[in-house]
Amino acid sequence: MTTTRQWLLNGHPRGRGIEDGDFKLVETDLPAPGEGEMLLKTHYLGFDPAQKGWMENIADYVAPMNIGDVMRGSGICEVVESKGGKFAVGDLVFGTTGWTEFLVHDGEGLTKVDTELSPTAVLSVLGTTGLTAYCGLFKVGKPVAGDTVLVSGAAGATGSVVGQLAKIAGCRAVGIAGGPEKCKWLVEEAGYDAAIDYKADNVKGQIREHCPRGVDVIYDNVGGSILNDMLANIATGARVVICGGISRYETGSLPAGPENYFNLVFRRGTMAGFIVLDWAGEFPGIRKRLEAFVQDGRLKYQEDIQEGFENAPETLQRLFTGKNRGKQMLKL
Ligand code: NAP
Repeated sequence: MTTTRQWLLNGHPRGRGIEDGDFKLVETDLPAPGEGEMLLKTHYLGFDPAQKGWMENIADYVAPMNIGDVMRGSGICEVVESKGGKFAVGDLVFGTTGWTEFLVHDGEGLTKVDTELSPTAVLSVLGTTGLTAYCGLFKVGKPVAGDTVLVSGAAGATGSVVGQLAKIAGCRAVGIAGGPEKCKWLVEEAGYDAAIDYKADNVKGQIREHCPRGVDVIYDNVGGSILNDMLANIATGARVVICGGISRYETGSLPAGPENYFNLVFRRGTMAGFIVLDWAGEFPGIRKRLEAFVQDGRLKYQEDIQEGFENAPETLQRLFTGKNRGKQMLKL
């Protein structure tokens, strides 16, 4: 019998931010793995703003979460025991494993870590983050060389990859992020052509200054007033990609529609949302492409690795306060 600590969902944070009381730390005994099952030990957890939406049960593309469920999330685990399971003892696997130190799993939906980069890359640049950047930009945004691509949440895990992929595609990349330090990093490290600090004044004016011919592709991670300001300056035929809307988590409710949406009519633009899971069949090939971009030096990525299982709720909160520098993870 294996004893494990787990973080359980203890509240649905609807109409408000996440609070400490929304999680409960428990210790529980796991059953021994049955035939075809494995005992997995978690080494890393990955964090995504979407986890708040899952806690709220606001999204219908995933199963609802009930009070008392193990908090849903991605992880990298080692197989420590196998009763004829899909993976061998010692293998590292990743997938939706949840906030638990150990778990019993049949391997369904998990993938073996297979990369020449550090294993944590499967949660960052080769994980949902990189895949989301790639699919949202290329399959929805359809950039053409010479286009201006404007990215909100640009210094984040997903946004920083979007800008670099846009550069690889021959576009001009302009990023929006919070504060001078992140803006400096965008231009000096991530290779963005220009950066806009949304915490400074006149975001709309800054967009106009840095995108004088209008924006061909908007890649929006934020929503709210930033999306509205971006829509004010779209070029004819613009594609507006709605990836996420992290600003809505401040108000707790779904955001009101942007006032400037009618520019889509004047500029013959399109606006489309997406869920990256719809391209799951293509993930192995896209991961290989992303890995090759990293290896030939064209794609840099940042990982922000906190420590200690007991710090999982606090680590999730870092995404909403902007404390994270790149993909937010936790090492157990
Ligand atoms: P991230 O960008 O690394 O971290 C979140 C960042 O959002 C923070 O660092 C912060 O940066 C910014 N932020 C927080 N509150 C904000 C606010 N009120 N206004 C403006 N910016 C704010 O997170 P990520 O994991 O890469 O996720 C990025 C987005 O992709 C999220 O919206 C997520 O839900 C979305 N996503 C979508 C899909 C899909 O299939 N559609 C899949 C995965 C992820 P600043 O310091 O710059 O404010």
